[in-house]
Amino acid sequence: MKYPKILLIFVYLSSMSVHNAQTTWCGTDQSDSFMKDLRENKKSFEAIRNKSRVDRFIPVTFHSVANTNGTSRIKDINIYKALHELNVGFHESEMRFYLKEINYIDDSSINENEGNQSIHKDPNSINVFIQSDAGGAAGYYSRVRDAVTMTKSALNNGNRTLQHELGHFFTLAHTHRGWDETSGESNSYNPADYGDTIMITHVTSGQSGRTLIELMDGSNCDLASDGICDTPPDYGFGSSASCGCCTMIYDVWDYNGDKVIPMMDNAMSYSADCDKDLFTEGQTIAMFTDYDSNRRDFLRTNNSVNTYTLLEDLAELISPVDPFVEQYDGVLFDWEDVPNAEGYIVTIEGDLTANIEVTESELFVQDLIPNGTYFWFVNPFNKFGAPNDAEEVRIFSTGTGTTSLNEIGSLTDYSISPNPIATGYNTNLFLTSELLMDATVTIIDINGRKSLSQNETLQAGTNKIVIETSLLTAGIYILQVETETGKITDKLLIK
Ligand SMILES: [Zn+2]
Repeated sequence: MKYPKILLIFVYLSSMSVHNAQTTWCGTDQSDSFMKDLRENKKSFEAIRNKSRVDRFIPVTFHSVANTNGTSRIKDINIYKALHELNVGFHESEMRFYLKEINYIDDSSINENEGNQSIHKDPNSINVFIQSDAGGAAGYYSRVRDAVTMTKSALNNGNRTLQHELGHFFTLAHTHRGWDETSGESNSYNPADYGDTIMITHVTSGQSGRTLIELMDGSNCDLASDGICDTPPDYGFGSSASCGCCTMIYDVWDYNGDKVIPMMDNAMSYSADCDKDLFTEGQTIAMFTDYDSNRRDFLRTNNSVNTYTLLEDLAELISPVDPFVEQYDGVLFDWEDVPNAEGYIVTIEGDLTANIEVTESELFVQDLIPNGTYFWFVNPFNKFGAPNDAEEVRIFSTGTGTTSLNEIGSLTDYSISPNPIATGYNTNLFLTSELLMDATVTIIDINGRKSLSQNETLQAGTNKIVIETSLLTAGIYILQVETETGKITDKLLIK
């Protein structure tokens, strides 16, 4: 038998002010010190390439940063959805990211700048800070702090910015490294400055310093640009050739006179217009090598997660799905179990706003108002995230009816006395029944845990049932009487 999880809803201010003043590209410093780790790892590339491919399970701590007064925090569901998209992006690479923890930080100095992120870092996972400002960029990876910073607005923008930043975490540079921040805002090659044929061998940028320009014939791929040989030359075309079509709008020839054909949908390029963000085999080997290296030992201390189940299904709503609910003070929200879900976030909005996390596929809510209007939806999640599709949303309004009396057809009278109950004492349930029938009396605490359960047989006529509340601690409880013909729910107070 399932018992609904019961919570008295507290009002949760979910409005968040994300400012979109900047947030376009990535702010990762890719100077020589950044490239050092990749160069070091290259010695192990061949050994990794010959290893059999296995899933690598990688813990991530998301730091959900708010202002010091608690305002402007992102909703948890946005983190779960971003994690899901991250796993979709890394699907072919067999790197599986799972949630270790959402850590809540109230600190304006971090939210609006970097502040002191480091004191919050978890030592055994990848740390991702989600805040209002990321140094003017959409996100970046800091090699010094070995942490990723993301703006709230970039977390779910569909551009897979988080996937890109984790590429940086595992030593990948931009496929257009060297061209980033070359020409002010355009971050790229442009024909006015460089002509149709590139006549120079090096380019200088803010993020990367002086960098060798990669050639189409592959002759300098080991040293030029991103240092990965199977990513073709890219001079930052994804940002300058912004046609909304994921194709190049320029014809450009390299120093040798070979026409440049970039990989516009690579995850490490600037390619906001592309549908997919891909990693090449070479990039994947580079990331595997880094994950397997000694400097990433700290990611491999917990081996308890070893099964990958990415949720695909959304919750199918069962009740209330009618536009009108007669009772307002006890509404059961119910939906189908989603296979492999570890929990659900229930969102109720309207004359009350709430985001409630539950483990069962039910929630009993007693805080709605009479004649209120609400809509609700449910997001299933597990440690690998939550599906990012549009949820089924249902709308309903409440009537003025109450649930505390007789939902069981064959009962003619019901009362509980005393209520409130003094701590250490039992209370009595009086039921007048028309029939002989079995009943289960259950008491559930405020966290939805079953505190007590009694099986009773009701005789035709008036029944007095002693409920053994004497062992329960002070607090609010929910009493349920369930029979074959229905259910009564009421509130108990022990003080
Ligand atoms: Zn980047």
